[in-house]
Amino acid sequence: MSGTQASARALIALPDDIINTDAATITAVSTPSPVVAMTFDDGPHPTNTPRLLDMLRERGIRATFYLIGNRVVQYPEIARRIAEEGHEIGNHSYTHPFLDRLSASTVTSEIDRTTDAIFQVTGRPPVTFRPPYGAFTRSQRTGLHATRALPTILWSVDPQDWRRPGASVVANRILQHTHQGSIVLSHDIHRGTIDAMPQTLDGLTARGLQFVTISQIIGWPLWQSRTFRRVVQTG
Ligand SMILES: [Zn+2]
Repeated sequence: MSGTQASARALIALPDDIINTDAATITAVSTPSPVVAMTFDDGPHPTNTPRLLDMLRERGIRATFYLIGNRVVQYPEIARRIAEEGHEIGNHSYTHPFLDRLSASTVTSEIDRTTDAIFQVTGRPPVTFRPPYGAFTRSQRTGLHATRALPTILWSVDPQDWRRPGASVVANRILQHTHQGSIVLSHDIHRGTIDAMPQTLDGLTARGLQFVTISQIIGWPLWQSRTFRRVVQTG
């Protein structure tokens, strides 16, 4: 086998060291309720995110948006709208690097700067983290949970929408693989993903599934209802 083949990996993939879902790493939940969590990564996007927000509002659906810190700074009004319309915002790093290749201090900076950007715009910090490309080692996940109380939220349904297979393929993949307790990964920066959402959302609803945020699906209070005390660090 060539070295290229040996080292090849999907661009976006679950870490290969997942044994079980634990407090620091969540891919899906086991629940008696017919709930699913839709998650949208890499925004805010200036046109696709507002279009998705319109679709969600029409249907009374809450979702979770894993925002990139530098895009929050670029599009603060869209980030604010996401929060104001009842959705949850999570941390997706500041510049979207492969974090598993970076030093601990750089990783911490990527995450802290993003938390701060989201706090500045929405008045509350994110309470969960999703690593770009899923590239985050077990020790990184455990460390982040210990030092920042941020669980790493991965996914159980991946339609590979970033490959732009077309809206109907994205919808069909999600509809085929999503069930009670699923966490669905997709990206609101791609027009085709947004085009897939009416069929996806209405199809899941028709099967009796209800949409909740990540905090809700893991049994935490709704992100919007949390209160925060700003911690001032000394020294
Ligand atoms: Zn991403």
